[in-house]
Amino acid sequence: MALNSNIPDGPVQQKWDKHRAELKLVNPANKRKYNVIVVGTGLAGASAAATLAELGYNVSAFTYHDSARRAHSIAAQGGINAAKNYQNDGDSVWRLFYDTVKGGDFRAREANVYRLAQVSTSIIDQCVAQGVPFAREYGGYLSNRSFGGAQVSRTFYARGQTGQQLLIGAYQALSRQVGLGKVKLHNKQEMMDLIVVDGRARGIVTRDMVTGKVQSHMADAVVLATGGYGNVFYLSTNAKACNVTATYRAHKRGAFFANPCYTQIHPTCIPQSGDYQSKLTLMSESLRNDGRIWVPKQKGDTRSPDQIPESERDYYLERKYPSFGNLSPRDIASRAAKEACDDGRGVGPGGLGVYLDFSDAIRRLGEKTIADRYGNLFEMYERITGEDPYKVPMRIYPAVHYTMGGLWVDYNLMSNVPGLFVLGEANFSDHGANRLGASALMQGLADGYFVIPYTIGGYFANGGLQSVSNDSPEARSAVQEAEQKIAALLALNGKRSPTSFHRELGKIMWDKCGMARNEQGLKEALKRIPELREEFWQNVKIPGTGTELNQSLELGLRVADFLEFAELMCYDALQRNESCGGHFREEYQTEDGEAKRNDDEYCYAAAWEYNGVGATPTLHKEELSFENVKLATRSYK
Ligand SMILES: Cc1cc2nc3c(=O)[nH]c(=O)nc-3n(C[C@H](O)[C@H](O)[C@H](O)COP(=O)(O)OP(=O)(O)OC[C@H]3O[C@@H](n4cnc5c(N)ncnc54)[C@H](O)[C@@H]3O)c2cc1C
Repeated sequence: MALNSNIPDGPVQQKWDKHRAELKLVNPANKRKYNVIVVGTGLAGASAAATLAELGYNVSAFTYHDSARRAHSIAAQGGINAAKNYQNDGDSVWRLFYDTVKGGDFRAREANVYRLAQVSTSIIDQCVAQGVPFAREYGGYLSNRSFGGAQVSRTFYARGQTGQQLLIGAYQALSRQVGLGKVKLHNKQEMMDLIVVDGRARGIVTRDMVTGKVQSHMADAVVLATGGYGNVFYLSTNAKACNVTATYRAHKRGAFFANPCYTQIHPTCIPQSGDYQSKLTLMSESLRNDGRIWVPKQKGDTRSPDQIPESERDYYLERKYPSFGNLSPRDIASRAAKEACDDGRGVGPGGLGVYLDFSDAIRRLGEKTIADRYGNLFEMYERITGEDPYKVPMRIYPAVHYTMGGLWVDYNLMSNVPGLFVLGEANFSDHGANRLGASALMQGLADGYFVIPYTIGGYFANGGLQSVSNDSPEARSAVQEAEQKIAALLALNGKRSPTSFHRELGKIMWDKCGMARNEQGLKEALKRIPELREEFWQNVKIPGTGTELNQSLELGLRVADFLEFAELMCYDALQRNESCGGHFREEYQTEDGEAKRNDDEYCYAAAWEYNGVGATPTLHKEELSFENVKLATRSYK
């Protein structure tokens, strides 16, 4: 099947305007005839649901949380990018576009990235109008800080709670539409399947997490904004509930999954402290504005940091990447930390840590300024580690954080299944092989507030939609399949908990398909994962029943999907015989350990078609062309 990305013609600066002008419209009175399902109420889903309802569509929004406001977006700390150039420091739409294409290591679609940079400025206006309390300067202008991979300050923030404040804004807009009766909000409902009728996405199957009732919901289009799948690694900075089920089930119904192996490992997380830990904690990238990263020059140096003189410290990011220093992009900073630890110069238990030191900044700016900027993050660090980062350097280590892969979408954010739109972290669209910090919130809100409202109208206006009902054979059989899967899981009555399988899968993925991968390890993973999956389907134990609140069952269903999806990630990592961004294949590196791309053979997005559990998926390639940002070796030196 040929993939059509539907990128409009013309210069990149004019594509979006031209496309908007050419998209067919649905007249205001007709909009109320269309029903849209939005799954997910994070920044992408809440902004989409609110905006579509504001336009007049009837929206049903679904979340597995008890409140739309609990979506994982609430955890975002550091900020949101926008090319406002308030600082007059040289920023522009073009520069944000350029930084994002380069940051993604030339594996993103130029046209999408340009549109993202273009609408970034409107996002800030929209959020300010909603009352989002962004930090401000004395004169009233919104304040900015810097994030990795940029030499300008373009990151807007609300202390270390940017995601929470943005989500309150979007939730407010959503609630207004709930009050007006244009959005029907379904809390505590987990999507189990996508319903495809006549080749189009026409509904979903959900399980009520309180009563266990499984049912179908039909609509004219389905929008998935269900977030990322970093928890396939078990340990990650994601909220514990984040999972791949919604996008993976859509994949099993025909939606292609693109670049599943592109995982972002964030350099500044609190190191793991034990084998039974269930979660990792992010220390925001914003800390790298003032914190300096270092390790002792000498291997195995166990002196406390204050006993190690300046001359015996290696500020390795400043040394290796003098132009970007501590604000080098995440993939590069993570690999550099791993390299220092692999070299025996790591600090803390097991030598798996590097210092993030604020002593210079505190001396220069005073403790109060640092507390104003990062107070809540420092407090969080102290509560978890028992160490006071105002006095001792933080210890940090890379951890799984974000997934650039996701369902394949065209320029309209529609998957290859007509009528299935995918937004936010759930799609693959804008970040290529490495996302720059503070660009996920920007993308989620761009998709929800400013892209889908136009493109979904174009889809409806093209016509061809027949009426469908919950009684259609497709809806009935999807419900039945979901019920059978639940019954099969409950009937097993084995000996191991879903968590024990998840933990084991996570370790395989981290060891073989994590921060560094190689052919042999990936092949081992492809052998081991099906064995573990088989054991799961013989030996998992899910206590309780399917007709009550049953968190083991919820987990079991999600782990079952991770056990299939993990294989897809390994296939993807194995076929890409190059290193790019977060995908670091040990066989493909430069002499000084940097990622070595192979543009002649791998300058494409890999979109995978499902062929059955355990069957090799089919690879479809969307060739990428770079007409505006010259394909070049990425350098931050
Ligand atoms: C600790 C942390 C800090 C971060 N900080 C930043 C930052 O400072 N800046 C930045 O740009 N990015 C940051 N990110 C990344 C960013 O937060 C996420 O990429 C972004 O919030 C994802 O938004 P989303 O709307 O796509 O998905 P989410 O916010 O993950 O929302 C997913 C929604 O889908 C629902 N859902 C999922 N599956 C189902 C299902 N099967 N059935 C029903 N509902 C379902 C969930 O209930 C939820 O409502 C951070 C990430 C982490 C982990």
